[in-house]
Amino acid sequence: MEVLKNCPVCGATELELFLAGKDYFLTTESFEIVKCSNCGFRFTNPRPGAGELGKYYESTDYISHSDIRKGLFASVYQQVRKYTLGRKRAMISKFQPGGELLDIGCATGQFLNYMSRYGWNVTGIEPDEKTRTRAISEYGLKVLPEEGLNTIRNGTFDLITMWHVLEHVSDLNGRMEQLRNLLKSQGTLIIAVPNCDAYDAVKYRAFWAGYDLPRHLYHFAKSDMKLLAEKHGFTIVTILPMKFDAYYVSLLSEKYKSGRMRWLPALWNGFCSNVHSGQNKGHSSLIYVIKLK
Ligand SMILES: [Zn+2]
Repeated sequence: MEVLKNCPVCGATELELFLAGKDYFLTTESFEIVKCSNCGFRFTNPRPGAGELGKYYESTDYISHSDIRKGLFASVYQQVRKYTLGRKRAMISKFQPGGELLDIGCATGQFLNYMSRYGWNVTGIEPDEKTRTRAISEYGLKVLPEEGLNTIRNGTFDLITMWHVLEHVSDLNGRMEQLRNLLKSQGTLIIAVPNCDAYDAVKYRAFWAGYDLPRHLYHFAKSDMKLLAEKHGFTIVTILPMKFDAYYVSLLSEKYKSGRMRWLPALWNGFCSNVHSGQNKGHSSLIYVIKLK
């Protein structure tokens, strides 16, 4: 395990315990989330070191990384994903009409493949070798391992997307610097992450699937992303909701809490999360649209 002595956002050393939870998804090991006394940023600490991370991803059930069509849950998830591809493209077109797109953590490449059909020149980064090979063989995409980021020249991309990826990245500040370098001066950066101030996060507490311990190393609220963006020379243009995530995350959270897929409470809490997003500082997952200052 690796222990962080400083807050990755503001550098302060005073950290307090925020929540004790578990890896409900895979190993049932216990983990803690600490909160920075200075800026309020919450992060998993201690956390698996670089060499230990792999074992927390070893599961065929990690469906965001697979296309297994099995059971009602997986089937609904796939349908929603199809629909959200169109929604993502429509949203992006308001900020960036086209050009060079880099999707970091592109998984099997569905988003990149979809965007390439609409004229984007696409590149993907995917650390998992099997998943990467599949994206390449299935769609003929250009997909590089994580180290590939260091081989791309600066100022290459009009758009960089990270859909639920930044919370998994060990070197948070290093990655933000890299993003700033790779983006064209008028480019757009899209970062989607769970929102740990959302209604469902407060409701499910340690069972909230958005914490996904220890795979999620950071737990962002709006104010944290603002601080982090500004620290690295970015500014947040707008923040948009991912409304389906409230249902998906509530359903997983119900499973972690009760051991069963409790659809009705999950649908109800997902609905409440979207309705109460105003009072609870945002939706379950948020999309940050970011530009260089
Ligand atoms: Zn801090």
